[in-house]
Parts: sequence; C-alpha cells; structure tokens
Amino acid sequence: MSYNVDSQGYYGDFGGAFIPEMLYPNVEELRLNYLKVMAEPSFQAAFNALLKDYVGRPSPLYFAKRLSEKYNTKIYLKREDLNHTGAHKINNTIGQILMAQRLGKTRIIAETGAGQHGVATATVCALMGLECIVYMGAIDIKRQAPNVARMKMLGATVVPANSGSKTLKDATNEAIRDWINNPVNTHYIIGSVVGPHPYPDMVARFQAVISEEIQWQLQDKEGRKEPDYIIACVGGGSNAAGAFYHYLDSPSVQLIAAEAAGLGIDSGESAATSFLGKEGIIHGSKTLLMQTSDGQITEPYSISAGLDYPGVGPMHANLYKTKRAEFVAITDDQAMASGLELCKLEGIIPAIESSHALAVFKQKTFKPDDIVVVSLSGRGDKDLETYMRHFEL
Ligand SMILES: *Cc1c(COP(=O)(O)O)cnc(C)c1O
Repeated sequence: MSYNVDSQGYYGDFGGAFIPEMLYPNVEELRLNYLKVMAEPSFQAAFNALLKDYVGRPSPLYFAKRLSEKYNTKIYLKREDLNHTGAHKINNTIGQILMAQRLGKTRIIAETGAGQHGVATATVCALMGLECIVYMGAIDIKRQAPNVARMKMLGATVVPANSGSKTLKDATNEAIRDWINNPVNTHYIIGSVVGPHPYPDMVARFQAVISEEIQWQLQDKEGRKEPDYIIACVGGGSNAAGAFYHYLDSPSVQLIAAEAAGLGIDSGESAATSFLGKEGIIHGSKTLLMQTSDGQITEPYSISAGLDYPGVGPMHANLYKTKRAEFVAITDDQAMASGLELCKLEGIIPAIESSHALAVFKQKTFKPDDIVVVSLSGRGDKDLETYMRHFEL
C-alpha cells in the first residue's frame, strides 16, 4: 500500500475533486498538465535555481544540542524558518508561479487567512511581474494589518470578502468565483495540501524538497538517510507533507503530526481536526473536517493563525485513518511554552505554528539514540505581539 495519491486523485478514502461544474475546465487543465510540466528539465532547472538563489535553499538541518540534552534524545531542526519570507510556504508559491507561466497564465489569484500565504504569493508575483489579486476576509484584513501592508508593498491588490463570517472561507468563495469568471488567463495558487485534485499532490511535490534535503543531510551527519521520527505541525498540512514525503512508504520512519488543540480538544475552542473531524467535503476535496451534526463547518480556534483551519489535507486524513502517522494535540499554552523554551535553549524564535511541533517533546518520550527531525516551519517575527501578550513581555 502506498500513502501517496493514486491515479484517481485519492489518498485511500480521501481526496478527489468535488467542484462546481463551472470550475471543471480550469482544474482539468491543471490535472492534465501538472506532472508533465514538473518533469520538464527546464522546469526543474528553473525551480531549483530559484529555490537556491532566491529562497536560500538548502535550508540547514541543524543539530539542536541543548534541546537534545534537555529531552535526552537526538534532535535535528529542519530550518524552514531561514527561507526568504520566513517559512516553507515560499517553496510552493515558487513552484506554482512557474507552473502558471508554463500554462500561459498572466494573472494570479489567491486567498489568505492570516496573510502568510498571501505574502508568499505576492512575493513570487512581484518576482515574475504577474498581476496578483489576494482575497481576504474583511475581519482578517483588520486583524492582520502588517501582512496586508506587505502584500500592498509587493504590488498585490487585496480584495476584502464581506460575506458570511468575513474570514478565510468567505475569501475562498470569492477566489473560486473569480476563477470561474476568468478561466483562461488566471491561475489560482492554493497555499497548502488542500483543495481539489491535483492541488494536494502538486503542493506536496513542491514541498517535498524538504524531505529530499533531509535525506542527504542526515546521510552526511549520521551516516543514514532515515531518521527514527519526523515531527511537523499540521494546519492544512503542507510543511508536514513536505517533511514526510520521501519517507511515506518507509515504515521504519515514524511520522508525528502536531495539531492545534487551542484551549483544549473538548473546549469548543480548538483546531484539532483529525481528533474532532468527521468525513466531509471542504474546498473541493473529501477529507476530515470539523463540523456540526448537520454538516455545518465549525469555526476553528488556535492561538496560531496558520493552524486555524477547520480541515486537514486528504493525505493527512489518510495518514490518520490508517494510523501511518501519530497525531498529537497541542494546546495554546503548551505550544507557547515550548516556543519560549527554544528561544532560551537554542537562540531561535520559532513561529507559533512550529512551536506546536516542538511541544510534542513534552508529551512523548524518545530514546537517547533516537534521531528525531522537527520541521521548524517558520520564524517567530510575525508572532512577536502574540508572544508579548502571552508572556507579558
Ligand atoms: C501556514 C503555516 C503553517 C501551516 O500550514 P501547513 O500547510 O500545515 O504547513 C505552519 N507553519 C507556518 C510557519 C506557517 O506559516
């Protein structure tokens, strides 16, 4: 059995493309072309060159000595926080902007919640000189003013979504409406391993550079390609998909996904999708999502804006259901404490999303000679205010 996508766009029971008829031609064009385009040597060369010189890859695999001593195991941090724009999201937007160019698209749309994916998209549009429209809930525009300013400085147009709860799901609806109205010249850049097939697979392949690098970096440092564990936080699941990718079918590598439990799994204020979720359809794919008994999507909550998503990508729904990955729920307080601990022990201020992955060390014990790789998905600059408020700094 493989944990990768099958030819029909499914991961076990999850995935597929549940989209309005009007969107079919757009998604079908992408589905028919994405693997062919990605396999072209000129595409590979352009992608790798930008990852190297623009993003700053390979990102280091750093042996965290003091953190390792504290937890009596061998901990390596995969430093996605050192990428240009401060997180792993840029790996995917670089890939998709090149894809859009190869497909002859001149206009890029995206939706964003906290603004991180909007910034990563605006960045690559500036890089390529392509028009960029980012849909964002009107409430999120107010809450995330610095990222709105960044997008504007990068030349993007930020369009407020004023319907519904004025947050991410309303922005998504606006983006889909735009794409239906502009099927020929527009590419929709989705920011995680979510959405209709082929998006989850395409995004996972772009993020797979993370585990491709871990393989040779670990070979250099430890004389073997495979760690015993890989830990990553899961919002939609793209940094986890990238960190797991080349190890999905290696049973000796144990995969651990950290989900945001917010104020606690049973508090009603949580984003622990796999624990609380039921099968359903969100953003065009069948997956696990948080919903009421009559199928209404529940508003998620997490202190970390990047994990505040009611669903999880279909790859992760399958990893959960088949028990290939272990899912661990981390509360706001646990994540914040582990984030601060990394600051003090290693001199690295992590994104609060990444702090959820670090908090797994408080819940699970590893053996002294276990090699544990943690995906440090992003840096904490964007979260300074939240850290200040939480710790009264
Ligand atoms: C967006 C974000 C995440 C969550 O997204 P995934 O698709 O689950 O990776 C995690 N960490 C950081 C730093 C982010 O910006």
